[in-house]
Amino acid sequence: APSLSGDFARFMEWVDAFRTLGVRTNADTPQDARKAVEFGAEGIGLCRTEHMFFEGDRILAMREMILASTLEERKAALAKLLPYQKEDFRGIFRAMAGKPVTIRLLDPPLHEFLPHDEKEQQELAEALGIPVETVRAKVEALKEFNPMLGHRGCRLGITYPEITEMQTRAILEAAVELKQEGVEVYPEIMVPLVGTREELEHQRRVIEETAEQVFQEKGERVEYLVGTMIEVPRAALVADQIAEVAEFFSFGTNDLTQLTFGYSRDDAGKFLPYYIEHKILKDDPFQTLDQEGVGQLVRLGTERGRAARPSLKVGICGEHGGDPASVAFCYEVGLDYVSCSPFRVPIARLAAAQAHLRAEARKAREAVAAEAASS
Ligand code: PEP
Ligand code: MG
Repeated sequence: APSLSGDFARFMEWVDAFRTLGVRTNADTPQDARKAVEFGAEGIGLCRTEHMFFEGDRILAMREMILASTLEERKAALAKLLPYQKEDFRGIFRAMAGKPVTIRLLDPPLHEFLPHDEKEQQELAEALGIPVETVRAKVEALKEFNPMLGHRGCRLGITYPEITEMQTRAILEAAVELKQEGVEVYPEIMVPLVGTREELEHQRRVIEETAEQVFQEKGERVEYLVGTMIEVPRAALVADQIAEVAEFFSFGTNDLTQLTFGYSRDDAGKFLPYYIEHKILKDDPFQTLDQEGVGQLVRLGTERGRAARPSLKVGICGEHGGDPASVAFCYEVGLDYVSCSPFRVPIARLAAAQAHLRAEARKAREAVAAEAASS
């Protein structure tokens, strides 16, 4: 695996002496997590869990859960997913021993897990022993005009709390077991797409009730945090209310950019190049944080959140977390950390150190100027 070595590693150590902003990584697998640690990541800022439901037998259990018609059937399918999910988290916690790991609950709309191809639908129906019409009807029922604005994020966990229960159980059973094996674990459970305090309150209640059950069964507890993504503009505006039920915020600037501009993340490529060429926009806002607009929401959300809860931890985990200009902005706003893909961790460390040095130099210049003016 590539890692930092020799002069470059020494240079990066020197860089870190001038860095106050934390740098975490977005990683969904133990391999990515290990790579990121070699690059200097101080934790995981975003572990997306959706990729974990596609491999091997998992996708069949996932589809069974989605196609289930009763709560009991759904729970039975989720029980099949639990051991896999727990193994995933054991691997990630191990790779990140001693460091915080933010795990995000299931985010995408459920139709993404169902086959849209006729033949595959037929095979699925056979595998589950149900009529193919049932599969087709479900695919039809889950169709949405705007899936990114639809039944996804915490809206899933609220309407199907059993999904949140399974994921919480997997996270905390893995954490308790590793603690018993002598591994230091710092799980942080993150709820996606929250727009109201009530949404987070609901999910927090499900998480806490599940946690108590797990701790009682295991005869052991672990400390864990519950927090939220701030990726819906409303969440930034009412951040004070949301912070009352969140121990941390992580700005999901991919969705926050999409929802603030009203540009689809998936389709903006059709006109953004034209916009940039004709100077309607300076940069691609999905690459470089739009400081004037989206950035205001980041600043406001941070200020209002911390006003309600001074100990609130605040980070960012959108693509912008690995973009130097955006990292400098996050430093200025006073975030605790940025989180980016493993390969961008060194760039983020450097950008964070440069931002700090620039700020210190400015303070020194101002002090000298003030001294000169008063003498
Ligand atoms: C985001 O929206 O910025 C984010 C990090 O989540 P995702 O890209 O998975 O929607
Ligand atoms: Mg998002």
